[in-house]
Amino acid sequence: MTLNILFAARPERWAIYEPPLRAALDAAGIKAHLATEIAPAKVDYIVYAPNSPLQDFTPYTRAKAVLNLWAGVEQITGNTTLRIPLARMVDPGLTKGMVEWVTGHVMRYHLGLDTDILNTGTEWKPRTPPLAQERKVTVLGMGALGCAVAQTLVSLGFDVAGWSRSQKDIPSVACFHGNEGLNQALGRSEIAVLLLPDTPSTENTINAKTLAAMPDGAFIINPGRGPLIEDDALLAALDSGKIAHATLDVFRTEPLPATHPYWAHPKVTVTPHIAAETRATTASQVIVENIRRGEAGEEYLHLVDRALGY
Ligand code: NAP
Repeated sequence: MTLNILFAARPERWAIYEPPLRAALDAAGIKAHLATEIAPAKVDYIVYAPNSPLQDFTPYTRAKAVLNLWAGVEQITGNTTLRIPLARMVDPGLTKGMVEWVTGHVMRYHLGLDTDILNTGTEWKPRTPPLAQERKVTVLGMGALGCAVAQTLVSLGFDVAGWSRSQKDIPSVACFHGNEGLNQALGRSEIAVLLLPDTPSTENTINAKTLAAMPDGAFIINPGRGPLIEDDALLAALDSGKIAHATLDVFRTEPLPATHPYWAHPKVTVTPHIAAETRATTASQVIVENIRRGEAGEEYLHLVDRALGY
């Protein structure tokens, strides 16, 4: 049997994904008609990016699952026309990218690299760099990305805590969970890394109250999603010195409007949503594994809980 697999993403993504998807389908021995246009009633699986023109799933009466190309699913969980399983992207390539990006920015703060990079004078003032074991880092969100980041930071010697919705037991990571665990996790957080999904219950996780719970002079790194932070509260905390500096990759409005105070703020580094990208080769293997599972009647990997929103 030949499966009809619709690739529904921005047109320029097709050239990037078509070869690795075909290679992964071949390797799995799956016969497929893979295309960007297929009569909706004939589609078996939809490989999907939430910014694709496809927003009404009603005509896809035969489709068995939507396989998302992105880790973040906030733009699709509320789509009431989607009534079939939705799998989000957990891609080893994307995870590696996120680990590297976060580790780089943690190291910047930990070692105080700006002191040397921004020193354009002639001052010779030696200092003893701290060791990772003396630095407390907290990762908010201990899912696919947060766990990988936490484990790498542990391997470098950092004193790492993690915060999640459900209780966890991760070697060498101080694990906190639930609303009651948030202030404890943040209270010991000299560097906080936000890797939570954007859901109604994670919005404004970083607000005036939670910022007050953090140590004075703490750093914030947000590669998660913009709505995790109450922007006015963060700006006030930066201005007061409560928060020493923030590196922000994601924003409520993207691209970040030119007039937004983050751009010009001396204590903010803005990056243009580049922390980690889905990598076509490894992601194609994950997608094809889910198609194989669908055909074998096995449970899909990385299913989204639509009620929880991630
Ligand atoms: P994931 O595997 O679904 O993990 C989400 C984590 O957040 C889980 O540990 C979950 O707790 C926790 N969580 C969810 N709601 C919570 C709540 N109300 N309170 C406390 N913890 C909560 O997601 P992921 O793959 O790691 O990705 C995380 C996010 O990174 C994505 O949703 C996306 O927004 C972002 N992202 C950004 C980029 C970029 O380039 N900037 C790239 C990829 C992804 P449980 O473990 O208890 O379920």
